[in-house]
Amino acid sequence: MLSRRRLIQGAAILSLVPSFATTGSERAAAAPVGAPSRVRPGDHGWPSSSEWEGLRQGVEGQLIAVQSPLDACRADPDSDACRALFKELKNPYFIGDSPALTQTCGWLDAWTAQPSVYAVAARKTAHVVAAVNFAREKNLRLVVKGGGHSYLGASNAADSLLIWTRAMNQITVHDAFVAQGCAASQAPQPAVTVGAGAIWMHAYEAVTTGAGRYVQGGGCGTVGVAGLVQGGGFGSYSKQFGAAGASLLEAEIVTADGVARIANACSEPELFWALKGGGAGSFGVVTRLTLRTWDLPDTFGLVATTIRARSDEAYRRLLSGFVAFYAKALCNPHWGELAKLSPDNQLEIRMNFQGLDQAEASAIWRPFLDWAAAQDDLTTTPAAIVAGPGRHRWDGSALEAFAPGSVLFDDRPGAPAANFFWSANLAEAGHFIHGFESLWAPTKLLEPEKWEVLTDALMAASRHWAVELHFQKGLAGAPAEVLDAARDTPMNPAVTDAFMLAIIASEGPPAFPGLAGHAPNLAGARRDAARIEQAAAELRKVAPEGGAYVAESSYFQADWQRAYWGANYPRLLAVKQRYDPDGLFFIRHGVGSEEWSEDGFVRLGGR
Ligand SMILES: Cc1cc2nc3c(=O)[nH]c(=O)nc-3n(C[C@H](O)[C@H](O)[C@H](O)COP(=O)(O)OP(=O)(O)OC[C@H]3O[C@@H](n4cnc5c(N)ncnc54)[C@H](O)[C@@H]3O)c2cc1C
Repeated sequence: MLSRRRLIQGAAILSLVPSFATTGSERAAAAPVGAPSRVRPGDHGWPSSSEWEGLRQGVEGQLIAVQSPLDACRADPDSDACRALFKELKNPYFIGDSPALTQTCGWLDAWTAQPSVYAVAARKTAHVVAAVNFAREKNLRLVVKGGGHSYLGASNAADSLLIWTRAMNQITVHDAFVAQGCAASQAPQPAVTVGAGAIWMHAYEAVTTGAGRYVQGGGCGTVGVAGLVQGGGFGSYSKQFGAAGASLLEAEIVTADGVARIANACSEPELFWALKGGGAGSFGVVTRLTLRTWDLPDTFGLVATTIRARSDEAYRRLLSGFVAFYAKALCNPHWGELAKLSPDNQLEIRMNFQGLDQAEASAIWRPFLDWAAAQDDLTTTPAAIVAGPGRHRWDGSALEAFAPGSVLFDDRPGAPAANFFWSANLAEAGHFIHGFESLWAPTKLLEPEKWEVLTDALMAASRHWAVELHFQKGLAGAPAEVLDAARDTPMNPAVTDAFMLAIIASEGPPAFPGLAGHAPNLAGARRDAARIEQAAAELRKVAPEGGAYVAESSYFQADWQRAYWGANYPRLLAVKQRYDPDGLFFIRHGVGSEEWSEDGFVRLGGR
């Protein structure tokens, strides 16, 4: 247990942070001259060739000198090699298989993907231990990458050593798992143990297609399991099964002292708690984790339609009707995913459901669809309402047969059949982000007397930019057991009272600033970013305490400690100080990062 003293220390450090809203450049400017810094290539203290050779032996040869695939484009932007690279940047599996690439190429005025100098392509815990010890002893900037899907660029850094867990992707399904040391307090339960480098699509294949069970993960199948769980993590059915982090039963984690620890409710309980949503990568390198599994719903389904309004007045009426319908019929465990509100007066509906059959889902939607069809100034595309057997929800070949176009496959020669992804996620492969904002909307906005307030805010926001309502990323309406489990995580408590996470974002195709022939349109991107901010500001007027979801939020998030974790931040900081007092694991806007410069190289305050 953490001592009271540590909690007080945590609170004290928090109070020393001048303002939660301190910006990066202000902090970088505050770095004292001569402050202790991690080493870069060419610095005195950068490891010698023979020291790198020692690490290579320590990791059984799994040390890679990382080359950027962009070198081909820098040499000749018109070369076949460069063209081939940009084609492959639309294949998330290709990106995931490169130590030098990340799913997001970069973010306007924020970050650009930078390869590490060296990577340890870890295959087992001992390799991770050796890399952590080397980075600590040699004072290196360390980064950890699993699925490579950090929007915020947290899994890459120039001049760093990368621990790359891609190959640690074993998946084992259990009928009766008991966390180590918990036999006296926990009954055996069905679970799955997943290596740190595994992605969700492969976990679903093993758990659902293979074993007929359900595990709570993310929507995008190529996101890494370890990265998503540590941020909290939501998927289409989180209103029934909760946040992924709340399903965590146990993790093996290598902490900054190089010790591989078992964290669960009975062993290292504070570290365990921090891993359930305290932000990925701040507490150590997770090498494997075990998640509970659930009975598989008999059916999963989708409701898809697009409704267009012919005037602003008609659109406002449409939004008002949808808000009332959602509040009365959909804010419950059956329903998740998306409604998208666009400036061109279009409402796109892509709602997922579980535990209902097609007839039940149709009956629920009938009143709203009939009402919309009866309005002269609305045009509705015929609604698709489909349901299928639970077992085939993540079965690539069944999906290709029954829902052609819904999935795309890794088209490299010899790629496994399990390497598929949602065509809806294609735009995000290799994307360059223009802007991204998120906030949770409190459930009080669904009370009838607030419907018009909510409608006005949605209308106002959608005048600036498209607003996506991710209903499954707010847990209001979930079963009591799920809400209790979420309260036992470090996520911002706003999540349990929110009926949705609003996401407002824009992106362009793969692009790298300064790369001839492949540079982003910065002026256009800045225009998008400004509109996104305006749209988010409209929603914050009605959800001022809405915080933001750490894994899907703005790079420039103000007040990030409170936005991501609310009142849980001091407790998280105490865990950080206990397990990583010297800040080996630096994540920008991660727990304890106030002590570091923006790039994680310079310790502020000279400690
Ligand atoms: C296209 C896309 C779709 C997404 N969809 C969803 C979604 O449906 N639901 C949702 O909740 N989130 C979603 N996210 C957000 C996602 O959950 C987070 O970005 C998550 O951290 C990604 O994990 P990763 O392993 O893929 O990424 P990486 O970039 O490899 O890592 C992300 C962070 O996790 C850390 N990390 C990775 N592995 C380890 C490890 N073994 N030990 C310690 N730290 C580690 C990294 O250091 C980094 O800080 C999405 C992101 C993208 C880009």
